[in-house]
Amino acid sequence: MKVFISVDMEGISGLVRWMDVSSQGIDFGRNRDLMTLDANAAIDGAFAGGATEVVVEENHGVEDLCVLNMELIDPRCRVIRGAGRPGATTMAGLSADTDVVLLIGHHARAGSFPGIMAHTISYGGFKLVRLGGEPIGEPDFFAIRAAELGVPIGMVSGDQVVAQQLNALCPWAEAVVVKEAFANQSADCIPPVRARPMITAGAKRTVERTLAGELGVLEGVGGPYEFEVEMRQPIGDAMRANVESLEGFEILDTALIRVSAPDMDLGFRRVAYLGYADSPGVTRH
Ligand SMILES: [Zn+2]
Repeated sequence: MKVFISVDMEGISGLVRWMDVSSQGIDFGRNRDLMTLDANAAIDGAFAGGATEVVVEENHGVEDLCVLNMELIDPRCRVIRGAGRPGATTMAGLSADTDVVLLIGHHARAGSFPGIMAHTISYGGFKLVRLGGEPIGEPDFFAIRAAELGVPIGMVSGDQVVAQQLNALCPWAEAVVVKEAFANQSADCIPPVRARPMITAGAKRTVERTLAGELGVLEGVGGPYEFEVEMRQPIGDAMRANVESLEGFEILDTALIRVSAPDMDLGFRRVAYLGYADSPGVTRH
């Protein structure tokens, strides 16, 4: 019984503002511990529910995706971290032998209001990301990629907005709401000490329900996929030259790029690439 846990930071209990999750913030060290303890709460619940293997993968894009406190993390899991992973940036550990995916500390998609630190992949770079004309967020990428591999998404923790957005797609998923967003950087928070047992209980229930065959796998997914990425800034010369040299990208307007991909692994990589494609000669993704 293999459980894959993607851990992000914006939806961690108690955190509400950008400076809470950026390495320049005064509480960043403390907040890394809060992130690790929410992850531990999920790991604990997963094992209590019947997991025999737990793989944790870091999803928060600061410090080269090395944010968890490795001294504090539950030693029963493995942790995938660091930049330059094979496959989609933050789904390297998601394989077809995974039984269920848990999204811990995730956040609402770009354009959401309210929604704590709502964004899709690159806050600074992307105003909106659409798939087939509809705005999507990171949980959508995970749900579709997991479904391509035949794996269900079983749980999300974060604010009420990411919970609603995931449940609209995967109504069977457990949603643990650890804060009620008022805006994009203000929420009514359940203190982490009280939120963690909720995460543990949700993860335990998720694994038990997975073993009982109660979760669904998203239906009707399959490439090719067509995305539109609305950039915050007009596309500069370096990005233009980079994307014009690559397959799967088409510049539609001054700040609008169409991305196409045969599957969601490549789709995620190509969309994420646009977040750092503005340096001359950077084409690896
Ligand atoms: Zn993040």
